[in-house]
Amino acid sequence: MLLQKTPLEQWILHKISGLAYKTGQLTRTLIEDYQLVKLKETVALASEKSLFYRGALGRFPAEKISSLKDLRAFPFTTADDIRQNPLRFLCCSQDEIKRVVTLESSGTTGLPKRIFFTSADQELTKDFFHHGMTVIARPGDKVLILLPCERPGSVGALFAESARRMNLLPVPHGIVKEPGYTLEVMAKEQTDTLLGIPTQVLALASGEPPDKNEFQVDVKNVILNTDHVPRAIINLIKRKWNCRVFNHYAMTEMGLGGGLECEALAGYHMREADLLFEVADPVTGAVLPEGEEGEVVFTTLTRRGMPLIRYRTGDLARFIPEPCPCGTVLKRMAPVRDRIKGRIALNGSGLLSMSRLDEALFGVKGVLNFQAVISSDGGADCLAVKVQLAGWAGEETPALISKALFSIPVIAESIGQGFLTLAPVEVDRSSLLWKPAKRMIQDLRVTRSDKR
Ligand SMILES: [Zn+2]
Repeated sequence: MLLQKTPLEQWILHKISGLAYKTGQLTRTLIEDYQLVKLKETVALASEKSLFYRGALGRFPAEKISSLKDLRAFPFTTADDIRQNPLRFLCCSQDEIKRVVTLESSGTTGLPKRIFFTSADQELTKDFFHHGMTVIARPGDKVLILLPCERPGSVGALFAESARRMNLLPVPHGIVKEPGYTLEVMAKEQTDTLLGIPTQVLALASGEPPDKNEFQVDVKNVILNTDHVPRAIINLIKRKWNCRVFNHYAMTEMGLGGGLECEALAGYHMREADLLFEVADPVTGAVLPEGEEGEVVFTTLTRRGMPLIRYRTGDLARFIPEPCPCGTVLKRMAPVRDRIKGRIALNGSGLLSMSRLDEALFGVKGVLNFQAVISSDGGADCLAVKVQLAGWAGEETPALISKALFSIPVIAESIGQGFLTLAPVEVDRSSLLWKPAKRMIQDLRVTRSDKR
């Protein structure tokens, strides 16, 4: 089957050149010339209007930027910078802000992060969702939206508006609380496309034993919306429903959307007319050669309310230098492998990462979600895992989970050396799903809590 080129290419060409759809040819030169113009505009706007950047960019005037590489000399913006005083980032009056997203803290200050959007900023997001979705769904398809959709301007509400623009039939549902109920909605509404958070869609795919389809659902496409998606979850969803699974690399700070996979399902194509991405060494901050893995850093090119310059995402990924099988000139980023703060240094040696736990535990049948906590146990670390299981999961499942934990080399080695103990696996079989949360190993040890 011939792969359709990512529709983001035509969209970006249209955005940057004003050419009508399906005319003209996008090139890297066109993209980069446009990005340079927009970068200078953004730096000029931020230096003039934002109190934060007026201070941070004092030595970096926009008129001195002559190539995209000049950005490398600029200071980074961090999540803590935003937490400390989000209003200092504003480039417009507070009256012009249409939506504020508050992100609860996972950082060191305990303060939440607040991100502001004007209606023009929201329009950029909707435009991206609309054009991105044309590769996934066809007019008339029913899309069940399993993201927060209640408030105007919430991510689910913006998706619903975008879906209508391409004549999809959105079914706003919100966060899944009880998989059985949502599966009944899917059957009744005959939804073909699901948009949701990985563990939530997993809970639906695991709502009944793998060999059953009593709910009579027929899913063609799934869009998973987050930063890091465990491979084990993708595989389970594909096996259960025999459907395509697209990953959408998303973060509120990016304007809710960052990059989307094409039909090749082999990495994200980035929203290059609105965002400029770099991959930097997480320790030295130096920009890495294309293909090397490092921290994803982005600069907004078109945002008006709260532009961000060189924002450190904390995600580890790399650009794939080889062309995508779909034939686009757009860059392609490999799926995010890990989060920097998702990894913790174990007593003894070695790093344990949430993504490694995800791949091991989501591979066990009937596991819907889990939490991992590391604490001190005398001189050793103690890893405690609490698991949410499907009602049909067998009695042997906790033993299989322990086995899966032992299959992770750093765990097996640390236990062997007496540096780590495992607490008995705690099981929750309630039919109500846990509220989705940032996937992190909770580190209760005092002295090592902020090690990277
Ligand atoms: Zn592609």
